[in-house]
Amino acid sequence: MAFTLAPLPYAYNALEPYIDTKTMEIHHGKHHAAYTNNLNAAIAGTDLENHSIEEILVTGFDKPAVRNNGGGYYNHNLFWSVLAPKAGGAPSGEVAEAINAAFVSYEKFKEEFTKSASTRFGSGWAWLCVHKGGKVEICSTANQDNTLMPGIGCGGFPILGLDVWEHAYYLNYQNRRPDYIAAFYNLINWVEVNKRYAQGK
Ligand code: MN
Repeated sequence: MAFTLAPLPYAYNALEPYIDTKTMEIHHGKHHAAYTNNLNAAIAGTDLENHSIEEILVTGFDKPAVRNNGGGYYNHNLFWSVLAPKAGGAPSGEVAEAINAAFVSYEKFKEEFTKSASTRFGSGWAWLCVHKGGKVEICSTANQDNTLMPGIGCGGFPILGLDVWEHAYYLNYQNRRPDYIAAFYNLINWVEVNKRYAQGK
C-alpha cells in the first residue's frame, strides 16, 4: 500500500509571518510530495511494502533511496504536526518538566537547540528526542536522516524537529538561517510535542 501526502493541518498561509505562504506551498506541495512519491517508487515490489514507515526507516536503512525518501516522508509529517499558528512560547505539561530537568530552563533549551540547528553544516535537521525513561536530548542529523534510524543522532524518539534545509527558509530568509530558527520558536505546537513525548518516553 502506497504512502500518501496528507494535507497540512492548517492553511498554507497560517504560519505567516514566521514562515511565508510560498515557502509552505513549495515545501509541502513539491518537496514533501516528491519524497512521498520517491519513497513509494523505492519500495514498490519489494518486501518493504506493507510495513510501517517506522519499520521501513530501520529495515530499509541500507538502501539510499529508501533512507533518503523514507526519512523525508517521515520528517516532514512530523514537522508539519509540531508547528501551529498562534503557538510557541514556553512549553507546558510533562515536556516542560523534562526540558527543565535536562537543560535547567526553557531559555537554556532554546540556546542549545539553536546551536544544534545553526551549526548543522549543509542540509539536515535539529531534534529534541526522548529516551525510554523520559530524559530528553538534543541532537542534529544530516540530510533526511532521523534518530529512528540505526546508529543515527542521539537514538531517541523524535518529539520536535526543525528542518534546516535551505528549501525550508531561503525564499524569505535567504542566507539568514539564524532568523528562521528564531522565528520557529513562535510556532512550536507544544500540545503535539507532549503527545509525542508520552508516546516515546
Ligand atoms: Mn524540508
